[in-house]
Amino acid sequence: MNRTLPATTDVVIAGAGPTGLTLACALAARGIDHLLLDGAEKGANTSRAAVVHARTLEVLDELGVSDDLCRRGIEATKFTVRDRDRALFQVPFAGLPTKYPYTLMLPQDQTERILTEHLEASGGAVRWRHRVTGLDQGTVTVAGPDGSVQQVRARYVAGCDGMNSVVREQAGIGFTGSRYAESFVLADVTLTWPYELDEVHLFFAPRGLVVVAPLPDGRYRIVATLDDAPEHPTVDDVQRLLDERGPRVRPGTVTGLTWSSRFRVHHRLADTYRRGPVFLAGDAAHVHSPAGGQGMNTGIQDAVALARLLSEAVGGGAADLDSYEAERRPVAAGVVAMTDRLTRAATVRNPVARVIRNAALTVAGRSPRLQRKMAFNLSELSIDDARSPALR
Ligand SMILES: Cc1cc2nc3c(=O)[nH]c(=O)nc-3n(C[C@H](O)[C@H](O)[C@H](O)COP(=O)(O)OP(=O)(O)OC[C@H]3O[C@@H](n4cnc5c(N)ncnc54)[C@H](O)[C@@H]3O)c2cc1C
Repeated sequence: MNRTLPATTDVVIAGAGPTGLTLACALAARGIDHLLLDGAEKGANTSRAAVVHARTLEVLDELGVSDDLCRRGIEATKFTVRDRDRALFQVPFAGLPTKYPYTLMLPQDQTERILTEHLEASGGAVRWRHRVTGLDQGTVTVAGPDGSVQQVRARYVAGCDGMNSVVREQAGIGFTGSRYAESFVLADVTLTWPYELDEVHLFFAPRGLVVVAPLPDGRYRIVATLDDAPEHPTVDDVQRLLDERGPRVRPGTVTGLTWSSRFRVHHRLADTYRRGPVFLAGDAAHVHSPAGGQGMNTGIQDAVALARLLSEAVGGGAADLDSYEAERRPVAAGVVAMTDRLTRAATVRNPVARVIRNAALTVAGRSPRLQRKMAFNLSELSIDDARSPALR
């Protein structure tokens, strides 16, 4: 057998997506021995999640990562819900009680690259081509680059291995929920666009929603629901979506496409976040609609919370390991519920229901309290009760 891994470590992390990378960065910063394993050849280089919210920037600031993210991203200070040209509801991020009163627009591959650079700077590394295939309490079975199998004994195991988590499955933890009927179109495009660069738009339309959000380097992220999306949406597909659902008076024109994808979305929550020495975080623990851009953010925040507890436990402190689930599972349940409501509201087809929805949103949009509440929810600052007394 060709052994490429040590026989023991304090923490095995399965999966080097944004959740696993953040956990590794946080453990490395505290000097905790760990192994970060990923079955892939190397990191994914696609755009995917493009939004980094204020609360995520706050927790990554503790790791010294946020300045680099902010240098690369675009600050969006408002999120506007529209029906065609008419603004129904605006969520202002400016004025939020945070160092980061905006939502940062940055493609996921760039976020992952910056996390990897920080991990390497603190002496950590990703072990690519090391796939977790089995788990028995703290003993992890790993298939290495040449296919040979090795075992690593860890005090704790973190399943950050995404929606189809092997760790979750091996630990016998259910993943309760279902799949949305529609698929999502994602595309990064160049665009002639009538609105300012600091605004994210969500357009409601009878045939589904479309989101238009600014990205660095003059690109825009388009997200849309479609009953049966093409596998690789083209410029024409995206243009058609904007024509059918976006602004009419000053329409957008797609001039090029740098990346596109179709994906099907589930809303699911792990039945528990911990079984003995095994913990779940990120998409392994929760998946939901991308409306609101919460997926990657919730995972990164899980990772920081888990790192704090595991570091305490490894360091011999009296860590209350069950507090991880108590703290983080309700947050994910809230995100699943909120994004589900947003997705269903955006895709109402009945014309009468649409008129009622638009009227209700327009009235709600005149309430600064409701606008602020939504800003707290989307930025995930509502997690921190101390900062949102006016919302209770
Ligand atoms: C096409 C696409 C578009 C998306 N768009 C958005 C968006 O617009 N907004 C949003 O909020 N979210 C979006 N998401 C979701 C977002 O990308 C995820 O929420 C985020 O990546 C979760 O991070 P994670 O680290 O928990 O899991 P992942 O990013 O899934 O990472 C899991 C890692 O685990 C590795 N792995 C898997 N199995 C094993 C194993 N057995 N052993 C070792 N390693 C393993 C994988 O190789 C991968 O690197 C999108 C996802 C996709 C696929």
